[in-house]
Amino acid sequence: MKAIAITPGRVRSVRLVERPEPSIATPDQVKLRTIRVGICSTDREEAEGGRAQAPEGASELIIGHEMIGRVVDVGDAVSGIQPGDVACFTVRRGCGQCAPCAINRSDMCLTGRYRERGILGLDGFQAEYVVDTAQYLVPIPKEIEAIGVLTEPLSIVEKAIDDAIRLQFSRLPAALTSPDWLYGRPCLVAGLGPIGLLAAAALTIRGARVYGMDIVPDDSPRPQWLRAIGGTYINGHEVEPGRIRDEHGPMHLLFEATGAPALAFNLLDALDLNGVYILTGIPGNSRTIELPAAELIRDLVLKNQVMIGSVNAARGHFQMAVNDLREAEHLWPGLMVRLITERRRPEEAPSLLHHHPTDEIKATIEWT
Ligand code: BGC
Repeated sequence: MKAIAITPGRVRSVRLVERPEPSIATPDQVKLRTIRVGICSTDREEAEGGRAQAPEGASELIIGHEMIGRVVDVGDAVSGIQPGDVACFTVRRGCGQCAPCAINRSDMCLTGRYRERGILGLDGFQAEYVVDTAQYLVPIPKEIEAIGVLTEPLSIVEKAIDDAIRLQFSRLPAALTSPDWLYGRPCLVAGLGPIGLLAAAALTIRGARVYGMDIVPDDSPRPQWLRAIGGTYINGHEVEPGRIRDEHGPMHLLFEATGAPALAFNLLDALDLNGVYILTGIPGNSRTIELPAAELIRDLVLKNQVMIGSVNAARGHFQMAVNDLREAEHLWPGLMVRLITERRRPEEAPSLLHHHPTDEIKATIEWT
């Protein structure tokens, strides 16, 4: 079968390779025929020689972790799923040694010895067929098949927002009175790539008043998409981070999806008293920046603010993503699929991974 591989650590090594087609090896496994696989900044970082690791003993890694596929075979011990169903696999596989991994919460692995399909030590999903254990399988209803490839990136958003809400529930007396705690609250999403726009959608679904910040022109596709779900665009070329509070009021929740450390810290000024700041962007470089550290710490302390990092997602978050995709399709029919702006054949992977047009939102490799 065909697959897309890289040599970890080497720049521009993306290539189409031939691999043996995998088959079910244990009764608890499921085999999928890949429909499409999304490309994100992690894939692009891997393709440029950044963070990635080949499986033990190999020098080549099959990339890809945002997938949707059709079930073609199930092991004898698998129930509730059958050939023809649509599903995706989660990304991380546990270390086998810690308590979170023992309960399928490897997204909170304690040893750091987890592996990730398509990223760290395990081949990924950019291939014609993939096989894995049923415990990592997330069924996707057929009615959202066209947008099901967004389940993985949305799962990242779901975990981050869920963590923020739980945190606020646990420490704010007022939050306890309302399960709709985000309802009507101003929230700012920084960086309107796929994760940022999906965060804007998930927050809007929860009733939040959503602002989205980026530096692209007001009439370009990403701000247009944000406005179509009822969000307000803040053009970072026109509004300094330090002026967001004056122009739009303090934000109760900040969702950072830029991976740009200087901007991330500058935005703290927009955060309200008791506010929560979620960081999801993974900076690709190690550049040093200067910060007004005393001021930042003083504000965090005197305003009871929380800053949390969030990575990866558990099966439950994938399920939340599936639910929100359905809800989004109901609220904004036909809008979610417009997030997929580039669809390419596997042969086009090298050019797609090495080139990132500004107007691209989500790019996919179409396998079927
Ligand atoms: C993936 C996550 C993964 C993270 C760190 C992200 O792009 O969506 O599943 O945990 O990269 O490797």
